[in-house]
Amino acid sequence: MKKLFLVLLILVYVLPLQCFAEEMFSTKYFTFYGEQTQEQVVEKLGMEPDKLYTKVMDMLNLHIYNLNVEIIMFNNQEELSQKAQLLTGEEFRERSFYLHSAGTIYISYPDMTAGILAHEMTHALLCSYFVNRPSIEMQEILCGYVEYKIKNMILPEPFNF
Ligand SMILES: [Zn+2]
Repeated sequence: MKKLFLVLLILVYVLPLQCFAEEMFSTKYFTFYGEQTQEQVVEKLGMEPDKLYTKVMDMLNLHIYNLNVEIIMFNNQEELSQKAQLLTGEEFRERSFYLHSAGTIYISYPDMTAGILAHEMTHALLCSYFVNRPSIEMQEILCGYVEYKIKNMILPEPFNF
């Protein structure tokens, strides 16, 4: 009986845990998936992810406080490309992308910078803010603007752009 209990215990608790061995952590606005810890991500970005998102919102003077986006971090660009190809059926050579239908940012961890992640956060913000989503061309202009500003850390005065 004790053995059976042990077997059941393994089936119920240990097996599901192994299936979801992938690390994850959550912040107010994001749930991160990947092999990296929250500390590693914060160190790579140079700030908390939520602080980066707050900067993005302030730069554009668009505020969505109930954003809930998943961020899947891949170990390299090849793994990201494979996932992108699976999702879109197209060849993919970028370091990151945002898929609004999945509410998910996909990013290659070695290539991740505050600027690149801010770019994808901007896509998520724009797609969540506007009922009629801006065209992809318009989004890229705004995402590029935010990425450039974050990269250079030239932060504009609020509402001043
Ligand atoms: Zn983009």
